[in-house]
Amino acid sequence: MKAQLIDGKMISAEIKAEAAAEAAALKEQGIEPCLAVVLVGDNSASKVYVSNKEKACAAVGIKSVSHVLSGETTEEELLALIDALNKDANVHGILVQMPLPKQIDERKVILAISPEKDVDCFHPMNVGNLHTGAKGFLPCTPAGIIELIKRSGHSIEGKNCVVIGRSNIVGKPVAMLLMQENGTVTICHSKTKDLVGICRGADIIVSATGKVDTVTADMVKEGAIIIDVGMNRNAEGKLCGDVDFENVKEVAGAITPVPGGVGPMTIAMLMKNCNTAARIQNGI
Ligand code: NDP
Repeated sequence: MKAQLIDGKMISAEIKAEAAAEAAALKEQGIEPCLAVVLVGDNSASKVYVSNKEKACAAVGIKSVSHVLSGETTEEELLALIDALNKDANVHGILVQMPLPKQIDERKVILAISPEKDVDCFHPMNVGNLHTGAKGFLPCTPAGIIELIKRSGHSIEGKNCVVIGRSNIVGKPVAMLLMQENGTVTICHSKTKDLVGICRGADIIVSATGKVDTVTADMVKEGAIIIDVGMNRNAEGKLCGDVDFENVKEVAGAITPVPGGVGPMTIAMLMKNCNTAARIQNGI
């Protein structure tokens, strides 16, 4: 294998250790960071995500309180719970696991969470802060991607960065963060013409399409950094990313695996945001 393997498990462990030290320091000041996790319905993937978040909180020393609601919960009931959590001074972060059942408007839920407790960084106020470069929460997966690149020894400044995907959760915010790191960013999507040609000019490619083989070796410049956000199943049912890892790793300079790349970073960055929330709400 030619490319450096960017180890998300190791880097996320480093970040969780930093978050644990920060949580311990907050506790010494009498503040116990606390995350409220809300799960509505019994989507099996969501249950796994929620349980992983609870485990990470326990490992880092952040208190977590779970609210598991039935799939028949009304929008009104969920908004009432969020209102109570907003008012609870012992709760610093609120995370409502998406997707929500169809009777509940996700946008209304995102708007209802107090921006100070919005550890997912989905509220338009926090999205605005991100875009204007103001201090505050950073969205977990995109911020995790920046950490992966930097902590594996690469700089973003002056690099041609291509982001494939323009979702509110990954594509748009990661493009913004790459630009703030002084990268020159191109955002591609399903209507992009000549994706191959654009990628061939990239020093850094971030793929977040959810489509197997979005990035193949012929699209990759020798030595480029490849970040694979995708979480897909291949024809054999095995977890895989958007990138043709086996062939791209022979051309790229550095590459993230799936699993073990971007995935573990999301929760590690969430732990950091919980500490940030506790600090913001205590004016420190
Ligand atoms: P969305 O489905 O919301 O967005 C996918 C984006 O990819 C869209 O902008 C779409 O374009 C674009 N796209 C789709 N196919 C192509 C293509 N063939 N060529 C170019 N662009 C294409 O997905 P998300 O952003 O929510 O997630 C993307 C992937 O990342 C998924 O596999 C998801 O599971 C994974 N993910 C992983 C996380 C982690 O922690 N590791 C966290 C979040 C997501 P258009 O806008 O034109 O439709």
